[in-house]
Parts: sequence; structure tokens; C-alpha cells
Amino acid sequence: MEPIDLRSDTVTQPSNEMRAAVINAELGDDSYSEDPTVKKLEDRVADLLGREDALYFPTGTMANQAAIQVHTDPGEMVICDEKSHIYRSEASGIVEWTGVQLYPIDGGDRGIPRPEQIKIANENLNTPPDSSSTYSTNIGLLTLENTHNARGGLAIEPGRINDSTNTAAQIDVPTHLDGARLWNAAVALDIPISKFTEGPDSVMVSLSKGLGAPVGSLLVGDRIFIEEARKVRKQMGGAMGQAGIIAAPGISSLNNIEELEKDHRNAAYFAAGISEIDNMIVQNPETNIIIVDISDIGLAGEEFIERLRMAGVLGTLLGDHLVRFVTHRDIDKDDIEIAIEHIKQVF
Ligand SMILES: *Cc1c(COP(=O)(O)O)cnc(C)c1O
Repeated sequence: MEPIDLRSDTVTQPSNEMRAAVINAELGDDSYSEDPTVKKLEDRVADLLGREDALYFPTGTMANQAAIQVHTDPGEMVICDEKSHIYRSEASGIVEWTGVQLYPIDGGDRGIPRPEQIKIANENLNTPPDSSSTYSTNIGLLTLENTHNARGGLAIEPGRINDSTNTAAQIDVPTHLDGARLWNAAVALDIPISKFTEGPDSVMVSLSKGLGAPVGSLLVGDRIFIEEARKVRKQMGGAMGQAGIIAAPGISSLNNIEELEKDHRNAAYFAAGISEIDNMIVQNPETNIIIVDISDIGLAGEEFIERLRMAGVLGTLLGDHLVRFVTHRDIDKDDIEIAIEHIKQVF
């Protein structure tokens, strides 16, 4: 039997509708901005997110790094949460591309650096011995994440995002939001997605996670920012020819936003089921990510994952005692019931 794959929402197979969209896509050379399908996707996403312009990227990682490069100069500090994706999960690419230093802060249980923390960071960096001296370091950017992946798919409310972006703006620091799963936050909180993008200067969203597109992410912001990002994308080798062939299923994936609710229901159901197992400490999911603390189970992380695999269920090890499960479009309630049953048998 095929294992029930809860490693990530990136493992989905493209739907028939997406495959048909590939066949019928109208194409042109996007490195000359002449691919009508890419243009259509960019316009749709800019519209949905309530921003002037959007730019299509092969991956979220490239879009995040291009955004950071546009916002900063080499040597500047980028304030981020210490569990953020850009800090922990992009193979330090940021430092390679942009030459910035990362300034990780414990953003607390919501993973969002608070206004006080941003002010303190600013004082720490600019004090010795005064802000105009040759010693001081500039803060070039604040980055935030929504939903917050490593902290358990937390759906961060727009007010909390804006408190931090406003504080950053007061000290002339722009904000980039890593919104790979921002769609999930909007659906979980039942707030229009454009409400989440008012504070940050730029936002990255992915089509290749819960929405189920085979590849693709977009960066949104104002027109001038996107112009500059287009140049950086070229430098990174991300200007693609007839990219409409991969953008077309991305357009179809925008029809799947409301259906994320199903993934959230399945996540809640899965969490409730496995929390009945002794010593399984299950974080209450807010979206499609479930984080389980296995410290009290008495198995090393790798061993736990191996037992899980033998039971026909796949998860991801996050640290030695944290395991992540993600529900997605190719998982239905029956799969979840089977997964719970199998995990109960093993543990
Ligand atoms: C997946 C993810 C990314 C990167 O997206 P890729 O397309 O895999 O490069 C960035 N940020 C967060 C929070 C993610 O979950």
C-alpha cells in the first residue's frame, strides 16, 4: 500500500484541470515579458493581494532572496524570528546572495518580533558609541512569516503583523512578509487575503504548497519594487522562457483557495486522534500543519520516523524531538482515519 504522505503539502500531484491548462496555455518569451499566461497569473495575484504588481518565480526561496536583495545593501542586518524559514531553511542562501547579516530574535509563541524587540534591536545596533559612527550597523529589513511554518502553521492576524511593520517603518526599516502559506492564514481566520498585505512592503506567496500547483511562487509589491526584483531575478538565473507552461497550472491553483478549509479540518481531526496516544504532545493546529513533541515517547527522532514509516505514515523530523505532519489536497478524511489507526497500533 502507498504510504500516507504527511511530510509536506508540496507532495501533491497536479490535478487533471492543471494538466489540461498546460496543454492549452498561450505562450511567449517571459524574459521579454511576453508570456500572456505568466502576465495573467501575475495580474491575478497582484489583484487578489491588493498590491500594484507581481512577479513570477520558480520557487519561494528565490522570491524571498530576491526581495531581500532589493530591500537591503550588503552588510546590513535583517531582523527575523529565530525559527523563520529564511533563517533556518534556505541553506543560508540569503547571506550568499545579498551579503546581509541575519539578526534572529525569539519572536515568542507567535513567531513575530514585537515592536519592543525591534526597538531594542535598533538601540543595540546603533548605540556603540553613536549611530553616526564608523562602528554602527544599519538595520536594512524586517522579515515576518505567515503562516509560521516551524512554529506549527500559525495563522497570524493582520493586526499583529501591522504592529511590527509600523514600528519598523518608524525607524525607516521596510518589511518583507514570507507568506508561502498566507492563503491558509486568510482561510483559517476568514479574513480577505488583501488585509494581510497592507503593512509589509513586499510579500511572497506560493502556489506549490496547499494550493497544489506543481511549482511557482510570486512576489508582490509596488511597481518600482517589482521592476527592481525583475532585474535581481535575472541575476539569479530565474528569468524563464515560455514560463506560461508552468504558470498555467498556477492559475488553476487559485481556484483551490477555499478548499484549504478541508486540509485544516483534517489537520484538527488528525491532531485530536493522535493526542489520545500516551505521551504524544500534540500542538493544536491552526491551519494544515501539526507539530508533535515526542520527548516523552522514549524514542530518538530518527527511530520515531522509521516506526512511523513502517506503519505506512510519513512525517518530517524538525528537531530531535519535534515531528511535523502536513495535510494537503491529496489527503482525505479516510486517509487521516487510517493514519491515526496505524499510528495508534505502533505507539
Ligand atoms: C516552503 C517555504 C518557503 C520556500 O518555498 P520553496 O518554493 O520551497 O523554495 C519559504 N517560506 C516558507 C515559510 C515555506 O514554508
